Amino acid sequence: MIFEDKSFSIILGDITKQRVDAIVNAANPTLLGGGGVDGAIHAAAGPGLLEECRKLKGCQTGQAKLTRGYNLPAKYVIHTVGPIWKGGKSGEQELLASCYRECFRLAEQNGIRSIAFPSISTGAYGYPVEKAAPIAIKEIITGLKTTAVNKAIMVCFNNSTYNAYMSAYKNGPWH
Ligand code: ADP
Repeated sequence: MIFEDKSFSIILGDITKQRVDAIVNAANPTLLGGGGVDGAIHAAAGPGLLEECRKLKGCQTGQAKLTRGYNLPAKYVIHTVGPIWKGGKSGEQELLASCYRECFRLAEQNGIRSIAFPSISTGAYGYPVEKAAPIAIKEIITGLKTTAVNKAIMVCFNNSTYNAYMSAYKNGPWH
């Protein structure tokens, strides 16, 4: 999708390989590493990332914190903590939307023009991807429209995630 010199893409790939100003990490509240995309990002970035994360003293659900990217092709990592899915009546939608918004806020503050997102919360945190995808897409398009970020990529790690995002995109009100 391209609008007003801005671009949004949904791709199948590995976020650690993306050549963008910042990649987003779906972290846990300790910021001290975990499995899934968090483990992959720490493994690719090297030990400097964990050292910087230790100084941040954690991160609350729905918030985000910035570090450098160390050995990654990306200059920065934005660590955000998605909600754990508890059935949908515990504020999960708003917390998930907040993750994407906070990432754009930090991007804007730090001169970041291109950003790659993983599918926040839909792995170990159990958020159904069909429900998460329209929230993610809405917030990403809003972020592109309201900040100086001009390129956003949703990086899906497997086919089912990719298909859910493509279908949410096709069915959404944004085009
Ligand atoms: P959460 O705890 O927020 O659910 P996970 O890391 O368990 O985070 O999963 C979030 C998403 O990230 C899942 O769709 C998972 O398949 C995906 N993922 C795992 N590794 C990578 C990677 N290297 N690049 C992009 N996405 C990844």
